[in-house]
Amino acid sequence: MKYISTRGQAPELTFEEAMLTGLARDGGLYLPAEIPVMSQDEIAALAGLPYEEIAFRVMWPYVSGSFGEDEFKEIIARAYQGFGHDARAPLKQLNENHFLLELFHGPTLAFKDFAMQLIGQLFQVALKRRNDRVTIVGATSGDTGSAAIEAFRGLDAVDVFILYPHGRVSEVQRRQMTTPADSNVHALAVDGDFDDCQAALKDMFNDFDFRDGVKLAGVNSINFARVLAQIVYYFSAAVSLGAPHRKVSFTVPTGNFGDIFAGYLAKRMGLPIDRLVVATNQNDILHRSLSGEGYFKGETIPSISPSMDIQVSSNFERALFYAYGEDGNAVAQLMDELKQGGFNISQGAMESLREAFDSGRVSEEETLATITSTLAHSAELVCPHTAVGIKVAEKHQSQDVPMITLATAHPAKFPAAVEKASDVHPPLPSRMSDLYERPERVTRIANDLGTLEDHIKRHIAE
Ligand SMILES: *Cc1c(COP(=O)(O)O)cnc(C)c1O
Repeated sequence: MKYISTRGQAPELTFEEAMLTGLARDGGLYLPAEIPVMSQDEIAALAGLPYEEIAFRVMWPYVSGSFGEDEFKEIIARAYQGFGHDARAPLKQLNENHFLLELFHGPTLAFKDFAMQLIGQLFQVALKRRNDRVTIVGATSGDTGSAAIEAFRGLDAVDVFILYPHGRVSEVQRRQMTTPADSNVHALAVDGDFDDCQAALKDMFNDFDFRDGVKLAGVNSINFARVLAQIVYYFSAAVSLGAPHRKVSFTVPTGNFGDIFAGYLAKRMGLPIDRLVVATNQNDILHRSLSGEGYFKGETIPSISPSMDIQVSSNFERALFYAYGEDGNAVAQLMDELKQGGFNISQGAMESLREAFDSGRVSEEETLATITSTLAHSAELVCPHTAVGIKVAEKHQSQDVPMITLATAHPAKFPAAVEKASDVHPPLPSRMSDLYERPERVTRIANDLGTLEDHIKRHIAE
């Protein structure tokens, strides 16, 4: 499989190259040149298989030129062995027709472990083979950073630097980033918000001297390997509710549009998904865009679902690429306009987006009320991101199509909001119960490109 850039000006790459590169050199994001399609029989045959086997069958066409069959199976096995649940992504029933897909049984208790654990293993195998090393820099609103650190800690071919907005991540998230003692792990608390961290990261990638000098690699959700890993659980969940013989819908708490975009690819691969519903908190650029108001940046307002406090959803560019008929020039022009604050979406592209996606926005009060009501009606304690999803899902449920809401984090990762809504203090799973006793190691740093680049250059291993 070849990979192409959403802006049409970067060279085509293999899966391995696209994964190691992250952002394309024309500023675009990589996508497969063609989306592989699974037949209805192939999808039906996934029913009842272990998660790892479904993962292999769904992802194989995307990676086959870069990894061997047995090699890839071993990579998948290693990626998911540290999960605290044999099903990896179990489904729970909330009511007659509404299900929760629990994606928080990985090492950092959020869905990002699904992609990051896989990417860690993929990088290790690819870099070993090339006798190479890289510097991974990631920007995080909380969960990506801890997931990346867990995935790469201790690997000798990689240094990992994580930029997070100082004071804007939960204590559990912060401690998950600052307590690993491995010398290749570097947590950086940036004086700014998540969009500042993400912008600094983009600027580093566009500084080709720096990029080549430190062998910069990205594992943010722009990395196609991340999106790929997330396609799998749409298949596993849908098949366990009767697909391909029955349609299902998904509601996805969304920030950077990476997770829900994986659902879009699953649909294009042949999975009979009826609706894909984008759920946002008060940082609602995606809901506004899908409601026809154009794609215009707002101020990021801190919320109780901080992993969705995003006003520029980097993966939305991928959806735009398809909505604009795979026209890289059109996408490049929109992204230029975004630098001035935003752009309007053409009527044709809006129709195409609306064919695939619905959306909804949830206030802080509604989020808390949904945590309360979900506990009362379904005996499930959910995290605030999941609550945003549940609330939007309820507005988009239909009689005959099951709705699956993605439970993106464990409630213990956001104990303050959960306790406020439910009076229940959500305990950490026992395997990480000493998190609050471990010493922290972090560098507070200015939101300034030169300062950040200097720090990274001085701290990478020789
Ligand atoms: C990252 C994250 C999201 C948003 O996912 P995107 O892929 O950025 O849309 C939602 N919930 C939680 C808990 C997250 O960590």
